[in-house]
Amino acid sequence: MNPEADDGPAPDTVVFDVGEVLIDESRVWQLWAELIGVSPLTFGAVLGAAVSQGEPVAAVFEHLVPNLDWPRLEDEHERRYGGFGEADLYPDVRPCLEALTNLGLRVVLAGNQPIRRGPQLEALGLPGGPVLTSEQLGHAKPDPAFFAAVRDQLGNPEPQTLLYVGDRADNDVLPAVALGWRTCWLRRGPWGQLQELPDEIEPDLVLEGLGELPTLLETWRGGSG
Ligand SMILES: [Mg+2]
Repeated sequence: MNPEADDGPAPDTVVFDVGEVLIDESRVWQLWAELIGVSPLTFGAVLGAAVSQGEPVAAVFEHLVPNLDWPRLEDEHERRYGGFGEADLYPDVRPCLEALTNLGLRVVLAGNQPIRRGPQLEALGLPGGPVLTSEQLGHAKPDPAFFAAVRDQLGNPEPQTLLYVGDRADNDVLPAVALGWRTCWLRRGPWGQLQELPDEIEPDLVLEGLGELPTLLETWRGGSG
């Protein structure tokens, strides 16, 4: 952990996942709880159980409302959600991205998201870009094709020059490591808190927030910028 300059060249491009890395998804789950008539606490507890057992989000609905055709409520959920807003950003995001761009690092936003979230993220005016969504790329994590498509969009730099920052062991860290990317595992949100990695997999960085990331990358680069 805490790589330094002699651990190999530091990445010059930082690719951020979106959900639970940039965007606090609390509102997503609160609205689902409201729509299916359970408390946010109950929804969160059952979501945590599903994550711990390696089950998909659909299992939460299966457990809480087995007879409800919940996908039918997706349009209503989207109407109430209204898309990403400034209040959904984790507070450490904007300062981190500003510091990284000031250090001369390329900042890219790329996650499993519907295409409509792209313009919503762009409207937040975060430093860096491009903003890339799985729907736009035609591939979703953990498919290696997602990471290949991101690289392609960036002009096919060497994988070890890219750092992927993600909260999920399964969707983010494991596929990125397998492809030779540098990785930062952000241990926040349900998946980041509860998932585990196999012992032999060591992300380059493991953080609980983004506050330290610019300094760590600056150190890794040997302070030479
Ligand atoms: Mg995520």
